[in-house]
Amino acid sequence: MSERKCNPKENKPMLDPRIILWPNRILSKVAEEETAFDEKLKTITNTLKEVLTNVRSYGLAACQIGEKARVFIVALSPEDEPDQEQQKDFFSKELRVFVNPSIVTTGGRPVETEEYCLSFPGIGVKVKSRYPGVTIAAYDETGLPFQENFVGFNAVIIQHELAHLNGKTILDEAGTAKRTLIRSKMRKIAKMLKQ
Ligand SMILES: [Zn+2]
Repeated sequence: MSERKCNPKENKPMLDPRIILWPNRILSKVAEEETAFDEKLKTITNTLKEVLTNVRSYGLAACQIGEKARVFIVALSPEDEPDQEQQKDFFSKELRVFVNPSIVTTGGRPVETEEYCLSFPGIGVKVKSRYPGVTIAAYDETGLPFQENFVGFNAVIIQHELAHLNGKTILDEAGTAKRTLIRSKMRKIAKMLKQ
């Protein structure tokens, strides 16, 4: 994810030019599993960290910087805050890389969340499919496997980013009317960026 609201001072979304916006087709591609922890992957993870730090957001998937790699990063909250309003300062968080991630188990019933996405600046969508807890198996950027349980806001961000690796975005979670609205807003943003 994601969640970056408009900069109230300038009343426009904060963007890093390296972030791919919808409707770029790479956002709907399923990323294939990584087979090597090489220099290429290192460059991708470094760029993800750089871009996420630049925009001080919560998570970023490789497709959002134009890479097909099956990797995302998340700025993990030290505490299990369920609410983004209570989120700590970006620099107190741990930037965690997830390579070839998969969900081992989910905990609880799906909850409704309001999610933002860096590829849809300033647009919030109600998502009803996220579990309040997930156990994830993945590799870190050095190729070391890990399995860990995440809850609250961290769990939601991870599910949002994992969806990106499967070619799904918040647009897929929106109802028909909302989708039309999002498409029209995104066209306006594209126009604004061209100017
Ligand atoms: Zn996103």
